[in-house]
Amino acid sequence: MPLLSQTDYGTEADGTSSSQYCHYCYQKGAYTDPNATVDQMAEKAGAIMTQMFAMPPDKAKEFSKMQIQNLYRWSGKIIPSCESCGMPLISDQDAGTETDGTRSLRYCTHCYQNGAFTEPDLTRETMVKKYAPMLASQYGMPIAKAEEMVERFTGTLSRWQ
Ligand SMILES: [Zn+2]
Repeated sequence: MPLLSQTDYGTEADGTSSSQYCHYCYQKGAYTDPNATVDQMAEKAGAIMTQMFAMPPDKAKEFSKMQIQNLYRWSGKIIPSCESCGMPLISDQDAGTETDGTRSLRYCTHCYQNGAFTEPDLTRETMVKKYAPMLASQYGMPIAKAEEMVERFTGTLSRWQ
């Protein structure tokens, strides 16, 4: 889940905010459900997606699992996400390129090539309008809900802040 406001964050043992986890998953320095599996988390997160964005339950679980298995708790590594569209940068092929041809650590290949955005004039609003229909058709959800979802998921990305 995106950590947007201070109240979204979990807490460490000393009461300070966790830098990595939300308050549903992590409180007082420990996981709220230490024995959880990826499937159980996907089930849980999927139910929230269904409720929030009217995504059909089977699609919601599939989407959640795809997101969750890349997260540090489950993959054991920090996989950066594109700071423009949110796509996880898992392999070199996923990453954009800098002017010298090296792999970008911040943006994906669709958003960023040769050190520049592929669509420099793209605004967050345009992006929502562009991605929402794809999301809606892929996951069988109403367009208004898909727009809401893209808006929420892109809210934490540095390109748009
Ligand atoms: Zn991207």
